[in-house]
Amino acid sequence: MITSPAFSGKRYAVLGLARSGLATVEALLASGARVTAWDDREDARAKAKDAASKLHPGTGRGTMRSMVEGAPNLAQPPLHHSPAANGPPPRPGEDLLEIADPLTIDLTGYDSVVVSPGVPLNKHPIAAHAAKAGVPVIGDIELFAQARPSLPPHKVVGITGTNGKSTTTALIHHILETAGIPTEMGGNIGLPILAQDPLPAGGIYVLELSSYQIDLTYSLDCDVAVLLNVTPDHLDRYESFEAYRGSKLRLFEMQSRAGAAILFGHDDQADPEAMTLYLPALVEAVIGHEAITEFQNELERAQGNWPALQGPHNLQNVRAAAAAAQVLGVEADIIGRSLRTYPGLPHRMQRVAEKNGILFINDSKATNPDSTAPALAAYPYIHWIVGGRAKTDSLGPCEAQLGHVRAAYTIGESGPMFARLLEGRVPVTESGVLPAAVSDAARAAAPGEVVLLSPACASFDQFRDYEARGEAFRAAVEALA
Ligand code: ADP
Repeated sequence: MITSPAFSGKRYAVLGLARSGLATVEALLASGARVTAWDDREDARAKAKDAASKLHPGTGRGTMRSMVEGAPNLAQPPLHHSPAANGPPPRPGEDLLEIADPLTIDLTGYDSVVVSPGVPLNKHPIAAHAAKAGVPVIGDIELFAQARPSLPPHKVVGITGTNGKSTTTALIHHILETAGIPTEMGGNIGLPILAQDPLPAGGIYVLELSSYQIDLTYSLDCDVAVLLNVTPDHLDRYESFEAYRGSKLRLFEMQSRAGAAILFGHDDQADPEAMTLYLPALVEAVIGHEAITEFQNELERAQGNWPALQGPHNLQNVRAAAAAAQVLGVEADIIGRSLRTYPGLPHRMQRVAEKNGILFINDSKATNPDSTAPALAAYPYIHWIVGGRAKTDSLGPCEAQLGHVRAAYTIGESGPMFARLLEGRVPVTESGVLPAAVSDAARAAAPGEVVLLSPACASFDQFRDYEARGEAFRAAVEALA
């Protein structure tokens, strides 16, 4: 767990106790902070209480002091020690944790309100409530940023973009591991960052950052910041496309002059594929633009060697990851080896099976047309399963890839819309549900062709999340004769 003396004796409200919220409560308590935590779900609140009592069994503040050097002696008892009529005494170790909805309490005197990135700040009343008390609303990444000065010397890579974040994050992590550098990934991927153990000196944290997470972060100075792309998405949370783009660019605004920046299509006039590289003087002296550009040119010819990184989109992810790794001092030949051994992430262009010469690919993670288009570009003969909860009312960049589509099979809420959009251009079967789409597509496909689930839509109309949708695809493929 990552703790910091910077939090000790301060007071935080934590709203949302899913994975990152719970890790936040634990890290703050272990650092000697006082925490008011809330989740609408009873079981989530119970988990926070459990975590508190496990942290400090038997005693309260004495244990706390020994855990964090310099933690102040809390002269003021925590709030709920105030003589509550016949209330039960606090359970052991629970005394720094109070369970209460921050919306219902006066936040004056709190240091910060920590919310999960899932809380829509543009609509949720907590934003105004915290502002009234002059308390900043932050996320766990900001707490990590504030804890950095007390961690062993390390570097941070931050990756953002509409699509490709997880792939690029996992790839950078894999390259660093291959190079023997201590590394952890977190943010929007893997374990919450505050739940992970601090890296030894020389370690590198690789953080996947959604724009929601960046919106809750104010002081993360990345040693390397990466922006992959910005295309219209999540517009329900932003006033405009410009506001969404601006949110991502804050990752760079937070950097000091010592940080390196890697951006694609940054200049509006430029080719969206063009990479812009800012190197601080120190890096320039060691590695320099030229060596990076030279290696980038080699990469374009080598993609055939990377089984888990096919498709034009993955070439962009590779270029970003390779440049970041070079900036961090990894040799080109180690990067080359890592690209060959990268295992890929589930639900992203994942080869699920080959049956009767037909390849089945699970790209359930593609939840908008921008992320589906490169999947369609990756294979020449595709039976395309598309539909779900639509984010747009057009095919967007998928339009240009219809030459690769042998036939389409529509599912979910937006099935009829996609059927209409595709009619007369490719043969369409309105399959309705995923198992039917898989068997319709498998029946029609010929050896050498691909059945691709890359739905260009969110999954919530028929599934819990994109992972459940990907698993349902795999199950349907396995059930085929
Ligand atoms: P994110 O974490 O940003 O959602 P992922 O790496 O999980 O991105 O990829 C999500 C989907 O987006 C993939 O299934 C793929 O089809 C598509 N994708 C991946 N990388 C890119 C890219 N660089 N540009 C456009 N689309 C991409």
